[in-house]
Amino acid sequence: TSQVETYEFQAESRQLLQLVVHSIYSNKDIFLRELISNASDALDKLRLESLRDGDLDVDTSDLHIALEPDRERRTLTVRDNGIGMSRDEVVGLIGTIAKSGTAEFVRKLKEAKEAQEAKDGGAASAALIGNFGVGFYSSFMVADKVTLVTRRAGEDTGTRWESDGEGTYTLEALGDVPQGTSVTLHLKDEDTEDQLWDYTQEHRIRDIVRHHSDFIPWPVRLTPERTGEPESTGETGGTEGAQPAAAETLNSMKALWARSPQEITEDEYHEFYKHISHDWSDPLETLHTRAEGTFEYQALLFVPSRAPLDLFRQGARHGLSLYVKRVFIMDDCESLLPDYLRFVKGVVDAQDLSLNVARETLQQDRQIQLMHRRLVKKVLSSLKAMRTKDAERYRTMWQEFGRVIKEGLISDSDNRRTLLDICSFDSTHDPEQQTDLAGYVSRMKEDQKHIYYLTGESRARLENSPHMEAFSAKGLEVLLLTDPVDEVWVESVGEFEGTTLQSIAKGQVDLDAKPDDESGDEDRDRREKEYADLLGWLTSTLSDEVKEVRMSTRLTTSPACIVGDTSDVTPTLEKMYRAMGQ
Ligand code: ADP
Ligand code: MG
Repeated sequence: TSQVETYEFQAESRQLLQLVVHSIYSNKDIFLRELISNASDALDKLRLESLRDGDLDVDTSDLHIALEPDRERRTLTVRDNGIGMSRDEVVGLIGTIAKSGTAEFVRKLKEAKEAQEAKDGGAASAALIGNFGVGFYSSFMVADKVTLVTRRAGEDTGTRWESDGEGTYTLEALGDVPQGTSVTLHLKDEDTEDQLWDYTQEHRIRDIVRHHSDFIPWPVRLTPERTGEPESTGETGGTEGAQPAAAETLNSMKALWARSPQEITEDEYHEFYKHISHDWSDPLETLHTRAEGTFEYQALLFVPSRAPLDLFRQGARHGLSLYVKRVFIMDDCESLLPDYLRFVKGVVDAQDLSLNVARETLQQDRQIQLMHRRLVKKVLSSLKAMRTKDAERYRTMWQEFGRVIKEGLISDSDNRRTLLDICSFDSTHDPEQQTDLAGYVSRMKEDQKHIYYLTGESRARLENSPHMEAFSAKGLEVLLLTDPVDEVWVESVGEFEGTTLQSIAKGQVDLDAKPDDESGDEDRDRREKEYADLLGWLTSTLSDEVKEVRMSTRLTTSPACIVGDTSDVTPTLEKMYRAMGQ
């Protein structure tokens, strides 16, 4: 009764699939983690939708994930009775790029490949791909054909999707499909020859689930192989009632954040992180905390080891999910942490919030505000501690997220002091090492009044700037600030422990009042008189370009330089405003 139609994958998806099929991922086991993770998300969504929508006619009494190996046919099926997908969703989510950043990833990978053709023979792209999660597509590491059958909760018709991962997939409408999703992997021969790679082996499945998916909050059951059943009860489902009773639950299902930190291994934290973040690399930092008393909550937060590709895109997503008493409420919860900590991933489980909290009103909720304040403090103090305890890790963190964290210097005046302690800056003091403001202050000359800085595009440019000449000559340290956000925070912060921040490209920088330059004022008066005519002529001749031409003490070798007014918008800031469309 139904028609099988063939479609082509989007170009980027096809490229990604090619990479996966000819995989250089070192650990193929993780395909199962990805499929279980998707099934778990689908169960979360169904429970949430049934809570929100009383009319939705679904049975939520036995939500679970079933793993069904079939040695005879060499298939492994991962089945859930979660939310399922409509036909459009299958096309949109499975047939095209679902993940933000995939296009960039594929482009980068190609660049790395081309660049390395001559050089390192694959190391760079191996590292890249090893870090990039491909989710559902990871099935094609172990399968040469994947069949997905799904029916969305509340809909009558199901959809069957099938592909060999080579560029096309087929779609077919199906009438009699249980609600939820089943993914059947037709395992590659190369994998089944070797016992170790045989994913129909029960002990293999058991090991993988215990290792990668133990905390999944839904039962992951291993369905014993059916013996002597007719061929026709295959991958299209409908076997629910016919299963033997003795399915074994493989995971402990304990919400990791609710367990005591003492009994959780680093490995367990990392597996959990990968489930919630869809990242394939380990996190840089794990923060597990709870608050007891009048307002109880648990939080399990992670600092990733890499910035996502869309960190600076308009409306970049936040990384926290909100739970209420173990029930998933929402992801991308922007009310729990400020924008400048949007890279932090994790879950927050509040005991006393209503299950019906709405995203729109969260910001006004007193309990949310309280959690927000405490979580910020928690994250910032751990970043600060990282700096002293583990300089190497701190450097990675700062390199990946420093540009975002500095936004906090502008927006979060309550935590400004802590933030300043976390920040590092390039400086003329040491080209190899960044400094913090305290370090700068400790090196200030006896009569130095300001913390000097210069903003611009790159370190090299700043170092060669004429503004720098007098400061280099006098051995005065200058901070070299090259991020667009630097322009803004230096203005709004203004000072550090009573010492003002002073741009060396703006206004009068008074370097004359130095002990090694005693003739200072007299000398300047004399020179100003001597050159008064020239200055007057220059000022009027250049009147369209500049406000004033004056004698300067800031140059040693360059004859002239252009200086901004103290209140002027600097060139970098001008550029930033323009980029933001202002
Ligand atoms: P990600 O999980 O990072 O979004 P995936 O490639 O793993 O990426 O999955 C893509 C999308 O396909 C998911 O976001 C989800 O919307 C949908 N999906 C995958 N598996 C299932 C499933 N078992 N049930 C419902 N939806 C699913
Ligand atoms: Mg996924």
